[in-house]
Amino acid sequence: MPIALPLDAHLHTHLSPDADVPLDAYAALAREQGVAEIAITDHIDFVAGDPAYHYADYDRRVRMVRDAAERWAGEPVIRLGLEATYEHGVEEAVRDYLARHPYDYVIGSVHMTRRTPFRDPGTAATWCAGKTHREATDFYWDEVERAIRSGLFDTIGHLDFVKRYTQPYLGPFEYEPHADIYDRLLRALVETGVALEMNASGLRQEPHEPYPPSTVVARFRELGGERVVAGSDAHRVEHFAFGLTDVYRAIGRAGFHALSFRRGDDRVAIELSTELVRALLGAGAGPNVGQG
Ligand SMILES: [Zn+2]
Ligand SMILES: [Zn+2]
Repeated sequence: MPIALPLDAHLHTHLSPDADVPLDAYAALAREQGVAEIAITDHIDFVAGDPAYHYADYDRRVRMVRDAAERWAGEPVIRLGLEATYEHGVEEAVRDYLARHPYDYVIGSVHMTRRTPFRDPGTAATWCAGKTHREATDFYWDEVERAIRSGLFDTIGHLDFVKRYTQPYLGPFEYEPHADIYDRLLRALVETGVALEMNASGLRQEPHEPYPPSTVVARFRELGGERVVAGSDAHRVEHFAFGLTDVYRAIGRAGFHALSFRRGDDRVAIELSTELVRALLGAGAGPNVGQG
């Protein structure tokens, strides 16, 4: 029996171009597994020609989520979220869009678009040749810091996502030699009050650790971080809540007692009950929760 969890804050349905899941499939799994609340965070891109540019209009998103919320009657609670692809060139377009289209909760993410060297394996290999991890990923961290400081987002999706793309050429992205890069982003999160997302999808992908790893959520706490949130970033029905218990465990172990979430006008702290923390920390580390 899976441990009942209060929230999965990052899920994609068929309204994302790279996902195929009907919302009801997630809702059924959430009810079955005891995930009390879910946020549907389909993609939106702001550059014409990108996959999620004008892919699903706002009215369709609202209708899908609000209808389902009514049908499922609070078990689980279903929220209207969004995952907006950020790059500094579209910041004003994102701002304008969000001002006119209210969501319960908004993730800002830097993705490997056609404008980046990681757009396909050929350009990625050429880009990484002769570079260190640091040199190959510089542009990405700059963009993530701008996303944090834009004031547009409740959280930043998969903070160190770029490591998925460098790993085939440069090997695993280690924490230690790059601690200063993480610190810079964590400090920006602390200063702005943007939440750190612990995104479990890295556990089912090549890095085999969350975005970012558990060491980083512990460091965030040390630096005074107070807001943290968790999501599975599922794009397939079998990925629902995958690895979510592991990231909750990392959050609990780092000393956080609540998740930070937004429900429209209300920014809320979702308490991690004593029973939950005990179940998480008593359940053993598991194979995937390494400090890496
Ligand atoms: Zn993403
Ligand atoms: Zn996502």
